[in-house]
Amino acid sequence: MNKTLRLILGDQLNSNHSWFSKTEDSVTYVMMEIRTETDYVQHHVQKVVGIFAAMRSFAAELKSNGHQLIYLQLNDENNFQSIEKNIQNLIETHHFTHFEYQLPDEFRVDETLKALCRSISITSTAVDSEHFYTTRNELGDFFQGKKMFLMENFYRAMRKKNGVLMEGDQPLTGQWNYDSDNRKKLPKDHKPTKPLVFDNNVSNILEEINKTNIKTIGTIDAKNFVWPINRAQSLELLDFFATNCLPLFGSYQDAMMPNEWSLYHSRISFSMNIKLISPKEVIDRVIEEWKRRPDEIEFHQLEGFVRQIIGWREYMRGIYWNKMPDYAALNFFNNQADLPSWYWSGKTKMNCLKDAINQSLNYGYAHHIQRLMITGNFALLAGVHPDAIDAWYLGIYLDAFEWVEITNTRGMSQFADGGIVGTKPYVSSASYIDKMSHYCGSCFYKKNIKTGDKACPFNSLYWNFYDKNESKLASNPRIGMMYNVWRKMKNEDKTALLEQADYYLNNINEL
Ligand code: FAD
Ligand code: SF4
Repeated sequence: MNKTLRLILGDQLNSNHSWFSKTEDSVTYVMMEIRTETDYVQHHVQKVVGIFAAMRSFAAELKSNGHQLIYLQLNDENNFQSIEKNIQNLIETHHFTHFEYQLPDEFRVDETLKALCRSISITSTAVDSEHFYTTRNELGDFFQGKKMFLMENFYRAMRKKNGVLMEGDQPLTGQWNYDSDNRKKLPKDHKPTKPLVFDNNVSNILEEINKTNIKTIGTIDAKNFVWPINRAQSLELLDFFATNCLPLFGSYQDAMMPNEWSLYHSRISFSMNIKLISPKEVIDRVIEEWKRRPDEIEFHQLEGFVRQIIGWREYMRGIYWNKMPDYAALNFFNNQADLPSWYWSGKTKMNCLKDAINQSLNYGYAHHIQRLMITGNFALLAGVHPDAIDAWYLGIYLDAFEWVEITNTRGMSQFADGGIVGTKPYVSSASYIDKMSHYCGSCFYKKNIKTGDKACPFNSLYWNFYDKNESKLASNPRIGMMYNVWRKMKNEDKTALLEQADYYLNNINEL
């Protein structure tokens, strides 16, 4: 008799997958909580707990829909703690005749599964995960023969291909991109919408994790776990975003405010990345909301959001599959420094970093500009090795999976790919941070001072970065202007800035 074993990974919780359209006696599903996944990097405790909680809820749903399922919990005796060992064991003990899996998003897991299929004695098939707008190789095909992989070109093609906000083959409003409308600072006394949080009780999972020696980072309130752990909660969060946050999303997309961790962001990345909901559902829902309230939701708010999902998210995935595995070793600036110790504790006098890191430790979340222009910016200015930066980002955020983490971290944030994802490094002095946030006013350091005790570290490190990397950057047309300013500076000012930067770099853990 034919017996098929189908593997569902922890980030493949897509109940709309065609696998589940009917129940079959010959098919058994398997899900597993394994140490190879909990330990490949040091994860945030909320990330491990959140994924296990969502997996368990998904398993219960499949079972109640009549599917046969084997679920291996973390501390089960017959859990051999790796995909390969568990699958081999199940094939032997249950006499399966065929093995199937959905294409994983991560290169590491893809390699594992390909090797596994070569080693087992039964036939195997890989099927699509039916989640993304694009296939793995679509971006590679789109840019074939091109030197530059411009996101904007890809984004426009995605809009056209999927008929999103289009009128025939033209953008609905005559303009593709409204980014220039989306860079506002929040007014000082502005009270952002209170975020929707959940109060899931995940104490039992936390207890099980605590029984092992899995090393995690960050804090958790296990009785009131704030993240969505099933499809219904994910849809509720999406609904909350569309109703309450979309009207101001674009305007304040790049804004930062102390102690405000969510602002007008959707916080939907965790749900989407583990596939509780699909990008198409998200896009359809926000467009529906905009159509319903055209007088309240300006087009640029909507377009800014749509671009993140149909543009950036798919683009990053395409770059990943086009450039891996070499991408993971790129280090354009040959940076070698360690990550400052306070990235793990939040204990720094720099207000912007303190806020972004503490929020990350407390929620496993920071929004895009905090990741890019606060923690990422500083790490690049400090010359930290991209491996250390990747490990931090991959561990600390609930939504961090390598396909979308590494392209953002090593690519967009660190320019370690030499310009595949971005056209120039995202670095700034205090002036950009002050322009977009309310951090500087109450900081120990002074945003306008460049040298001396109270000088904001971003200021001298910024010029030090350009000075140190001149041979690699001076010919970049988007940066030439900065080098003109640097070259025109008096020699004694330059020396003072470089000495200040040197002092900060030598005492980085004290900042
Ligand atoms: P919103 O601001 O509400 O945006 C909506 C959605 O757009 C997000 O949920 C996300 O799916 C998508 N999106 C927006 N920007 C990007 C982007 N640059 N790349 C891919 N998708 C995007 N995103 C992850 O999902 N996982 C990561 O591990 C991750 N690591 C990052 C590391 C760095 C250094 C940087 C700069 C960005 C990273 N991002 C990552 C992208 C982005 O910061 C997050 O997707 C976003 O902050 C998630 O919060 P949100 O759902 O509230 O997003
Ligand atoms: Fe950050 Fe400098 Fe502003 Fe302090 S002064 S909050 S360190 S940018």
